[in-house]
Amino acid sequence: MSLPIVAVVGRPNVGKSTLFNKLIGQRLSIVEDTPGVTRDRIYSKCEWRGKEFMVVDTGGIEPDSNDVILAQMRRQSELAIEKADVIVFVTDIRCGVTADDYAVAQMLLKSGKPIVLAVNKVDNLGEPPMELYEFYNLGLGDPYPISSVHGHGTGDMLDKVYESLPDCKETEYDEDHIKVAVIGKPNAGKSSLINKIAGEERVIVSDIAGTTRDSTDTVIENEFGKFVFIDTAGIRKKSKVTEKVEHYSVLRAYMAVDRADVCVIMLDASEGFTEQDSKVAGYAHEQGKACVVAVNKWDLIEKDDKTMQEYRTKLENDFSFMSYVPFVFISAKTGQRINKLYELIKYTYEQNSMRISTGMLNDVLAYATTRVQPPSDKGRRLKIYYMTQPSTKPPTFVTFVNRADLFHFSYRRYIENQIRSTFGLEGTPVRFIVRERG
Ligand code: GDP
Ligand code: GDP
Repeated sequence: MSLPIVAVVGRPNVGKSTLFNKLIGQRLSIVEDTPGVTRDRIYSKCEWRGKEFMVVDTGGIEPDSNDVILAQMRRQSELAIEKADVIVFVTDIRCGVTADDYAVAQMLLKSGKPIVLAVNKVDNLGEPPMELYEFYNLGLGDPYPISSVHGHGTGDMLDKVYESLPDCKETEYDEDHIKVAVIGKPNAGKSSLINKIAGEERVIVSDIAGTTRDSTDTVIENEFGKFVFIDTAGIRKKSKVTEKVEHYSVLRAYMAVDRADVCVIMLDASEGFTEQDSKVAGYAHEQGKACVVAVNKWDLIEKDDKTMQEYRTKLENDFSFMSYVPFVFISAKTGQRINKLYELIKYTYEQNSMRISTGMLNDVLAYATTRVQPPSDKGRRLKIYYMTQPSTKPPTFVTFVNRADLFHFSYRRYIENQIRSTFGLEGTPVRFIVRERG
């Protein structure tokens, strides 16, 4: 089951980031963040009156870009309309209703999605100012006066959001369908892959009203299993607006990762690994998803018998932060090794869902600690009492020890490697939790 999505849209400087941070309970603003940390802040879990939802700061409007602001807002609103269950449209009491606000309101209205109109920077408590009434002209119903800085009014606004949230989002497919997100940079070949797959296989569902959230998800059953390919960027029906702005393609990728069991990280073979790939791959890793790297357009590469191995070695280095990930060299155009890709998706899914008995884990632990003694410090030696796996997706292990501070990174890595070499766990991150027990 995936959480409902609430998107925050509005012109630059109306206070979207401030509101977003208030909602997720963090004080730092996005502007102050270093790159790479921002991802958690543009998309985050939030709870109101016991209901959880994801809140998205669609932000990303660059005031100094050549693009006119309205065009960027259009893109932002499109994303919100396409993905969100509720849209919070933020305006600014100090600016009044602007022409851009009208234009965006028109777009949002046409979508038929629930919209909550927030009028920000109403910092004084008490009677709402006269200026508030002008916002009725947007045709979006009651405006909610809020102060994102102080938090005034956000409770009433969230009540309205709460009312509009869908009750619960049922999974649209049987539990046994593996949900796959194909993520990667624009032009890596994501839509080509989906179209190839959809063209050649029996597509069971495209859009059954009321059951599918993203009607462009592609459901496939074949000899390898049952799969749902999540639509990342309108990849099935190429969206009219191409994702030139990195922010949006990254944001969409995060949303897809969130819904997926397995992430196929697609690279363009002629381009190799890029910064943007490390962002989305890193996110998939942090979220504990099974991952496969598909190196696409392999048909374009001039090769001899060493090329693939050389390429693989280079990638292993690029992906050293997720050393468990398998690589497959494919061509979405010719269909080369797409069968292998299916096998890997299935395989890594199973690895990600693997459950290892406590007995087997402790056998491995006993063997590992005899072979390499646990570290000690000032006469005190680390004792590992036992290990157990309380959950899957990703496999999560709890280790009970006498002193957590003695369980150094390198020894943890050693134990993890022992477990991996015994049980495989290929293509999946694992989590280790260390508990002290006196
Ligand atoms: P964004 O571009 O829409 O994300 O806007 P920001 O969240 O970056 O806010 C733009 C400016 O408005 C910042 O200087 C904020 O401190 C200020 N701001 C945001 N919310 C409020 C508010 O409720 N009251 C006041 N007085 N200022 C606010
Ligand atoms: P997306 O933006 O990731 O969805 O990428 P597209 O599927 O639109 O592909 C971008 C371009 O690469 C298109 O011109 C495709 O025809 C081309 N392309 C995609 N996959 C392959 C492939 O495996 N081999 C070759 N030669 N071209 C490909």
